[in-house]
Amino acid sequence: MNRTIARLEERSNEGSVAHGNNQFDFDFIVIGSGFGGSVSAHRLVEKGYRVAVMEMGRRWTPDNLPRTSWSIHRWFWRPELGLRGFFNMRFFRHVTILHGCAVGGGSITYASTLLPPPEKVWETGSWRGLADWKAEMPRHYEIAARMLGVTENKILGPADHLLKKVAAKVGFGHTFYRSKVGIFQAAEGEEGGKTFPDPFFGGEGPQRTTCIQCGGCMMGCRHGAKNTLDLGYLYLAEKYGARVFPETRVVNVKPMGGMGDGSAGYEVCTVKSTAWIHSQSGRFTCRGVVFAASSLGTTELLFQLKEKGSLTDISKQLGKHVRTNSESLIGVRLPGFPEDVSQGIAIGSGIYIDEHTHIEAVRYPAGSDVMGLLTTVLTDGRPGPLRIALWLRNLVGSLLRHPFKTLHLLRPWRWAREFVILLCMQSLDGHIEMRWQRRWFWPFRKFLVTHGDKVPTYIPQANQFAQKFAQVAGGTAMSMVPEILFNVPSTAHCIGGCVIADSSGRGVVDSRHRVFNYKNMYICDGSVVAANLGVNPSLTITALAERAMSFIPPAAETDWNDAASSVLHASSDASETAEPAGSKRSNIACSPCSHKRLV
Ligand SMILES: Cc1cc2nc3c(=O)[nH]c(=O)nc-3n(C[C@H](O)[C@H](O)[C@H](O)COP(=O)(O)OP(=O)(O)OC[C@H]3O[C@@H](n4cnc5c(N)ncnc54)[C@H](O)[C@@H]3O)c2cc1C
Ligand code: SF4
Repeated sequence: MNRTIARLEERSNEGSVAHGNNQFDFDFIVIGSGFGGSVSAHRLVEKGYRVAVMEMGRRWTPDNLPRTSWSIHRWFWRPELGLRGFFNMRFFRHVTILHGCAVGGGSITYASTLLPPPEKVWETGSWRGLADWKAEMPRHYEIAARMLGVTENKILGPADHLLKKVAAKVGFGHTFYRSKVGIFQAAEGEEGGKTFPDPFFGGEGPQRTTCIQCGGCMMGCRHGAKNTLDLGYLYLAEKYGARVFPETRVVNVKPMGGMGDGSAGYEVCTVKSTAWIHSQSGRFTCRGVVFAASSLGTTELLFQLKEKGSLTDISKQLGKHVRTNSESLIGVRLPGFPEDVSQGIAIGSGIYIDEHTHIEAVRYPAGSDVMGLLTTVLTDGRPGPLRIALWLRNLVGSLLRHPFKTLHLLRPWRWAREFVILLCMQSLDGHIEMRWQRRWFWPFRKFLVTHGDKVPTYIPQANQFAQKFAQVAGGTAMSMVPEILFNVPSTAHCIGGCVIADSSGRGVVDSRHRVFNYKNMYICDGSVVAANLGVNPSLTITALAERAMSFIPPAAETDWNDAASSVLHASSDASETAEPAGSKRSNIACSPCSHKRLV
């Protein structure tokens, strides 16, 4: 281990000498510390670069995480309202986007399901043919899975057993699977809650405690069992020299030295994200930038920077091809069920009800009942006024016929103990667009606004399954109020907006995540994903970031001249034939550099 650290220090020194970079505060600034950001920080430090990570969210530890979702100020992120948690919901006309905001990004609130998508995703979307994805990606998925500690879920809770039973009754029993998760679990037959020295990184990581099946993963793991990024990639990045700036929001990124393409470096301006009055602005300089602020965060930030005149040459494709994984949240409430269905891990298992439609059994921990305020009786039918009328009729009818039972179903108390959330995802393609526009009701500034065809909120097969589930388990099938009232689906899996493509006419980055028309600028987060994955996206975001970083040379070898290339003829070997306007061809070696990985 000492040799490892020495090697890193040596590389770091070599890097500084090689490019005489003392005039810059850092070699790279990474914006955002989620999956893409943490991979980037770790791999760049490993290659000898001086790295800073700017993260708008707070740092969380088992001691300051909320006990339940009723601690709204420590769960929700709306600093202007005094809410300084790690989870946010953004409401748009077409979709409600759920996302994380913390040191460790979405990993603090995510359910830790880590699934590879079906191979066919590489054959659709604007990344098709730009690399031999099917041959290249398996090794990056393998590294990502190892680093995130992916393992098969050993813990089936009551909700998972019910899912299995219902699936068998309706003929999908053979598709039942245990989730693949990033959770440190006890060995078969052993109790959870035991602490061990680092089990994942050859002793270089922090000590960890085995899972106690509390179902609290989405409220942040207070037991040190979930493999969050601050215990993995980001931990190692910091250990070897990356500086993480929490509660620091990036508000500007400007090319320096009159070189509009960033070849003379960038100035990054920040404010304190949790400050009410004094924004405590900061200014940092660097040679390269990695945007890793998530699909929504990077898209919004780049729109702001384009508008400000800082990065005017970002592709006009910005905001296009935003995908929502075609999700629908339904569920079944089981009052009087003999077991506490919040036990287990947040997403313990799943099934496929057809080739494109996949349902996972999801739970919140006992006491975290706030989401119960958004659930109501299940309503079928096409979205629109008729569906609302049908919902009202069902609701009023149910209240008149069974007033106590209905009120019991709608009350938030004991919701988590009695509610199995069924998260339905479809891999059918479809996308919306985000634009930067003024709103008629507030014309003084521009906002992110969605356009395009409505994403379906009603997936009939999923509703039928929920009804069957309710029948078998002795409960009542339920829907989400916003899906019925506003015909707006919710998603925790927003991807796209800065997609990988062959040219700036079709996307924002090239197949190595280099931003078109700029030098030494990359995007490594969910915004680059160019197809609907049909599964939870974090493993793919991590694997893509691993791949992108593998092309960056060690600090001692860089000439700081890395620019995106357009592809005139997309082919499976991704021959790069054209140059972006005004940029010199990068002379960085095409094959992944030969540096040695530490972990
Ligand atoms: C409740 C919930 C459960 C989920 N469960 C799963 C799951 O089980 N499996 C799965 O694969 N996915 C899951 N997801 C989705 C997953 O969290 C995201 O897909 C993933 O985190 C996206 O990774 P990313 O690298 O794109 O960005 P993120 O992980 O979202 O990180 C981006 C970071 O950038 C920061 N940031 C944004 N703007 C700025 C700025 N201007 N300056 C500084 N920092 C900024 C944000 O605060 C954030 O921390 C879940 C999401 C939610 C909300
Ligand atoms: S179930 Fe509980 S202990 Fe296990 S990973 Fe989730 S939050 Fe942590």
